[in-house]
Amino acid sequence: MNSLDLDANATEALRPTARHALLEALALGGNPSSIHGGGRAARRLVEAARRAVADRFGAAAGDIIFTSGGTEANALAIHGLAAGRRVLVAATEHAAVRAAAPEALVIPVLPDGRLDLMALERLLGQGGPALVCVMAANNESGVLHPLADVARICRAQGALLHVDAVQSAGRLAPQPGLADTLAISGHKLGGVPGAGALILAPGLHLPALIAGGGQERGRRGGTEPLPAIAALGAALTERYDATRIASLRDAIEAGLMSLAPDAVIAGRSAPRLPNTSLAILPGVRGETQVIALDLAGVRVSAGAACSSGKVAASHVLEAMGFGADAACGIRISLPWNAPDDAPERFLTAFAAILGRLRRRS
Ligand code: PLP
Repeated sequence: MNSLDLDANATEALRPTARHALLEALALGGNPSSIHGGGRAARRLVEAARRAVADRFGAAAGDIIFTSGGTEANALAIHGLAAGRRVLVAATEHAAVRAAAPEALVIPVLPDGRLDLMALERLLGQGGPALVCVMAANNESGVLHPLADVARICRAQGALLHVDAVQSAGRLAPQPGLADTLAISGHKLGGVPGAGALILAPGLHLPALIAGGGQERGRRGGTEPLPAIAALGAALTERYDATRIASLRDAIEAGLMSLAPDAVIAGRSAPRLPNTSLAILPGVRGETQVIALDLAGVRVSAGAACSSGKVAASHVLEAMGFGADAACGIRISLPWNAPDDAPERFLTAFAAILGRLRRRS
């Protein structure tokens, strides 16, 4: 039997419309900057994808900048807006944001993983123009920050707000008008790696991070990755069945808690993405659980895997106050096409490995 993929937050399963758009763009080929007919046909695909992104996020097409993915979209926003501003980042931000602002002040989160709004107000009150970076949904826990409140506080204090919406973009209804810049990534919403986008508030101007041949109105040089952009635009038109996915996730959590009553689900009391669960099995390292589950035919991840494949204790769990257990979490993230028997298959595998994991720890 095929392995059960419960690692959609690493890369979401490809959407059928995205596959179709990808193949169509590959067959078409061409460089959107060429002025002959082939180039103009490629340009039409890029602009159709731009409109799809704009429509989805309530933005103008001219305010969409295509990038290579979520990491670059975050970097473009932060490097472009940070000059002359203090940068504040939530403690649970993705490495893509933290690396773009290494000197940033850290805004703590509450034990349920949501941003500490009083701390945000206090830090902003300490003066000076500021850029605040708060993700819409956390990639490890799925916890949703109270973005409307964050935006209200930023506006009242004259701060700009950058939102990393990489994990929420294909799964939750957008909240237009809150962010000055918003980052999304194609392969996290059912497209393919190679394209992402930064969505700008009306009238906002950003310097290019990568200069080049004037593409994206001079805001991002480099030939547009046509197939990946076409797939991104198409994936955004797909419907996401949050109710079905949340019920599968909830069944996994209920079953896991009855098999291991000492387990803890991080951020369970907070609003979360429908597909994500971060389960802590005290005393058993996350990577040990991941390997055992993989051998039993289930793919999950431990915290955030870095590209080296090494797994460090989760900074997300540490920020939520989990201490030594911050290294004992596994992230279960269901893809949009998870089978209905996913809970049964996960729980059968988990029950089979649990005794062994406990004896080893
Ligand atoms: N932001 C978040 C919340 C993510 O989960 C990721 C990827 O894991 C990124 C940014 C980086 O996106 P990309 O892989 O498209 O560079």
